[in-house]
Amino acid sequence: MKIVDVTKVRSRFSVAGHPQVIEMLCPHCLKEASFTIKAWSQHAGRVAAAESPCPRCNIAVLFLNMVDHRDSPGEPTLYVHPDPVGRTQMVGTDYLRHLSAPLGRTYESALKHYNQGEWGTTALTVRHLLEGLATRLLTDAHRSDTLPTQLQTLSERVDLAAPLDDIAEMLAPSGIFGRQFSDETTMDQNTAQQLLELAEQMVAYLVVLPGTMAELKDRIASAPVPLRRGMTSR
Ligand SMILES: [Zn+2]
Repeated sequence: MKIVDVTKVRSRFSVAGHPQVIEMLCPHCLKEASFTIKAWSQHAGRVAAAESPCPRCNIAVLFLNMVDHRDSPGEPTLYVHPDPVGRTQMVGTDYLRHLSAPLGRTYESALKHYNQGEWGTTALTVRHLLEGLATRLLTDAHRSDTLPTQLQTLSERVDLAAPLDDIAEMLAPSGIFGRQFSDETTMDQNTAQQLLELAEQMVAYLVVLPGTMAELKDRIASAPVPLRRGMTSR
């Protein structure tokens, strides 16, 4: 449940003072919508509940108006359920913050704009993030190049095979894991866990990353091209 800011309430019922029209971002479709409540059902004079479908996606949203006497006597707090279906941070954001704290903040700000339904600002922030990432990985050289040129330079410079070379070395007969494969009774839980993590990272790197990337490319290629503003009326 999330608290709805009191400024989102556009009008109230005259008798009990419960909200009647609430203008806010729909937690299901993340679009700005006007929720009109027909009736509230009250319980014990302390909580009132109402359900209203989103006029855009038609999925029901539950509102709770609760009087909490501890904080502000008589002032009810309006809650909405469910929580917005916004995106959460990707796994491993700490590595990005470690690479560059400003880039970490840019990523967080892109997510925040997305979760507030600000698509244009999200896109600009993501572009800023990609440019910053390319510049940072090129150790701040090529600052004046365009993003596509920077990405091309990056693909020539970054040794994407290095992680595989490291793994090959560890699994070789003389390597840290290779030596233990000859007698598996010497394996302890710690080694087994590290091997499992190694395999998971390889799967993520060699199978999951190319797979999800190809899927995203397909989705981008098959998405309808949006009409430019002003061209629809001609
Ligand atoms: Zn909706």
